[in-house]
Amino acid sequence: MIDLRSDTVTKPTPAMRDAMLSAEVGDDVIDVDPTVIALQEKTAELLGKEAAIFMPSGTMTNQIALRCHCSPGDEFVCESQCHIYNYEQGAFAQLSGLVAKTLDGEKGLLKAAQIRGVKRHEDDHLVLTRLLCLENTHNRGGGKVYSKELTQELCNLAHEQGLLTHLDGARLFNASVATGDSLEVLSKPFASVSVCFSKGLGAPVGSCLAGSRDFVRKARRARKLFGGGMRQAGVLAAGALFALENHIDRLAIDHENARLLADAVASTSSFRPMDAIPDTNIVIFHVDEAWGTAKKFAEVAKERGMLVIAFGPQSVRLVTHLDLSTEQIRTACEVIREIGSRVA
Ligand SMILES: *Cc1c(COP(=O)(O)O)cnc(C)c1O
Repeated sequence: MIDLRSDTVTKPTPAMRDAMLSAEVGDDVIDVDPTVIALQEKTAELLGKEAAIFMPSGTMTNQIALRCHCSPGDEFVCESQCHIYNYEQGAFAQLSGLVAKTLDGEKGLLKAAQIRGVKRHEDDHLVLTRLLCLENTHNRGGGKVYSKELTQELCNLAHEQGLLTHLDGARLFNASVATGDSLEVLSKPFASVSVCFSKGLGAPVGSCLAGSRDFVRKARRARKLFGGGMRQAGVLAAGALFALENHIDRLAIDHENARLLADAVASTSSFRPMDAIPDTNIVIFHVDEAWGTAKKFAEVAKERGMLVIAFGPQSVRLVTHLDLSTEQIRTACEVIREIGSRVA
């Protein structure tokens, strides 16, 4: 099977498993696990923050960031298609008593004019606007990258109004490889940054939340509250460390493969890619109603040995990753061309 459903489907490589097998471990809840410490230090350094903390998932790092930046009755501002708002069960409301103010972006990207004056005035009738969250790369935007210039501009506007800033950087590594800008530069304007090791980097589990030393201390307390304290977590951290050391630069291959897939999609008469040239490793495309639905595409593709996600009634998502060879991508392209050139 050529599995294009997500970059989370990758299996740890033999070398990564070796690193996990031989990881030195401790009890990270009682005091320390040396491999977790090493991962946290390396992540903080890469992101240019004082400290970082390892957690089981990107949902947890995002939700703990919200929890630590905001208080019940506060409002955070985000793009309407973002992960925090759409794919985390409204945990910000369920777990932290927060309200979201969503702004419609263009392929996930917000504009400066939308942030200007976004903070509500202080009035006993109103929630307090506290935080701006951005997502880089933007998943539902088709892996769109926020440039360092746009990032800086939006965060400056937020800071001028006294707002805090958080980055959901689940795929920040893709953004860095695509732009050539360092992780540190892309993270710099934010008070906190969340990154995932289990997406394009190919580790089996884990995310880190980075920020100031005080913020991370607060996040560690919240992690215990949210049930995310892990004991011999060095086994997992070793996989993530291996990914940081070996799997960042190769993301360029995934981006090239996504371009091949987008080309194949564009060459059909029935399918239309969101972007002719995708920024990173995600290709979202529209299925013409005359051809059928996205669900139907997923079924037909499966019969041909290709797994995809129906992202909406007429929209399909393909994601490239390190378990897909260029050979498999070429096969996927042929399947897309073949399916898309006939009305089913
Ligand atoms: C995957 C993802 C997350 C976190 O997801 P988990 O499955 O909880 O690790 C957060 N934000 C974005 C944009 C993502 O793609």
